[in-house]
Amino acid sequence: MNKYMNNNTGEMAKYEAVIGLETHVELSTNTKMFCGCALSFGAEPNTRTCPVCLGLPGTLPVINSKAVQFAIKTALALNCSINKSSIFHRKNYFYADMPKNYQISQYNRPLASNGFLDVDMGSYVRRVGITRVHMEEDTGKLIHTGSSGRISESDASIVDYNRAGTPLIEIVTEPDIRTPAEAKEYLIALRNIILYLDVSDCSMEQGSLRCDANISLKPAGAKSMGTKTEIKNLNSFRFIQRGLEYEYKRQAGLLEEGKKVLQQTRHYDHLTDTTSALRLKEEAHDYRYFPDPDLVPLIMDKDAVQDIKREIPELPGEKIKRYLEVFGLPDETARLIASDKDTAQYFDRCANILGPGKLKAAANWITGDFAAYLNKESLKIKQSGISAESLCSLIEMIEGGRISSKIAKSVFEEMAQSKKEPQDIIMEHNLEQVSDEGELSKIIDEVIAANDEVVQQVKDGKDKAIGFLIGQVMAKTKGKANPALVNGIMSKKLKK
Ligand code: ADP
Ligand code: ZN
Ligand code: MG
Repeated sequence: MNKYMNNNTGEMAKYEAVIGLETHVELSTNTKMFCGCALSFGAEPNTRTCPVCLGLPGTLPVINSKAVQFAIKTALALNCSINKSSIFHRKNYFYADMPKNYQISQYNRPLASNGFLDVDMGSYVRRVGITRVHMEEDTGKLIHTGSSGRISESDASIVDYNRAGTPLIEIVTEPDIRTPAEAKEYLIALRNIILYLDVSDCSMEQGSLRCDANISLKPAGAKSMGTKTEIKNLNSFRFIQRGLEYEYKRQAGLLEEGKKVLQQTRHYDHLTDTTSALRLKEEAHDYRYFPDPDLVPLIMDKDAVQDIKREIPELPGEKIKRYLEVFGLPDETARLIASDKDTAQYFDRCANILGPGKLKAAANWITGDFAAYLNKESLKIKQSGISAESLCSLIEMIEGGRISSKIAKSVFEEMAQSKKEPQDIIMEHNLEQVSDEGELSKIIDEVIAANDEVVQQVKDGKDKAIGFLIGQVMAKTKGKANPALVNGIMSKKLKK
């Protein structure tokens, strides 16, 4: 934190940040945007190409309808209007990452516009306007050989066109974001929605989710916006926040010195945690956009859009609402479960099996011991080998008094290790809780007989001492005695 930034102490910041994000998402279709080449990350270089995506003369692009459906699904989930007709443009530039010397993109008539995403910041909600969602094709990958990876210091550049033509959507926000932390939370929320929709794997490491951040500063409360810079190479949530924080400080420093912020594209370096100028921002006319004469306009049929809308599952925000309002889960628990699609599905299955009375127990297991186990083993819930059915039978056994909650923990551990069903584990190790009053009464008598002194203390009114006696009974039964029952019987015997 620095002196210009509002650091949650209530102190007014001198400059307010204005931030807008442009996010690229690679869609997980089987084939590329305009040809039949397979998408496959990590394949041998240049093995997923054909005359179309290599831009050979005489070839024609064909729009991938699955990609259009995925894009519409995402746009609808972001509350956008789908435009009745949209157009593909050529964005012309000369660089070896695109063999055609242009990229097919959308320009002044995008697929969808005017949406919003509500970003929950805990103490407030930031509504971020979505300017547009448009479709385009990804470029190929250039690798500049040599240690630094910078083009100026390398002997050669090698190209891989496997990625060229991969379907992409670009999601552009309004400049509504006000802090680096909001930018990070926006991206986390966006990623989660896209994962729920199952249209991309959204891997920031592998580059299927990429975000450029635009930031300018203005005096707090001012209406008009300042000059912005655009930060590239922000390939983790942490880097987005850090890169923006650095850029905030840098711009504030310039303004304080009475200098101007130049409109630039800047590169974030996570090793130094700084940004440096890449180039002056190019203008739209530099790209000589024009409608691609090989592609017809995309005309969106109302019914087709309706069909896609029906496929949208319950999204994270709605899930949290249902968990809070219908299930009565604590706020933090509801958010934690909804923050991962598979976890939410797992919990929903448990809730179905258990019914309203016991679903809180399921939520506690899933966010408690189960989460701790997954975390320790670096596993996803799907890889745990513990089905919702198995977890639920464990919960039923606890709730039904068949095992103590203490023993349940060790049963769970064994379930995780051996993948056995809880009832088998309980039978095998004879762990069932002893709730037979006759049997317990006998053991309690033994404990009372062997602990004259403590018994006397209890009788003298030292209520706490009874805990020691109950502990003795638990020890004798190796933790299997029903503690509530022991307490009841013991109290009765000692009051006589
Ligand atoms: P450009 O023409 O430079 O590409 P756009 O108007 O298309 O700029 O906006 C690109 C992104 O930058 C959007 O997310 C937008 O919200 C954001 N943006 C635009 N102007 C500013 C500004 N002055 N400060 C911060 N972000 C801005
Ligand atoms: Zn191809
Ligand atoms: Mg623009």
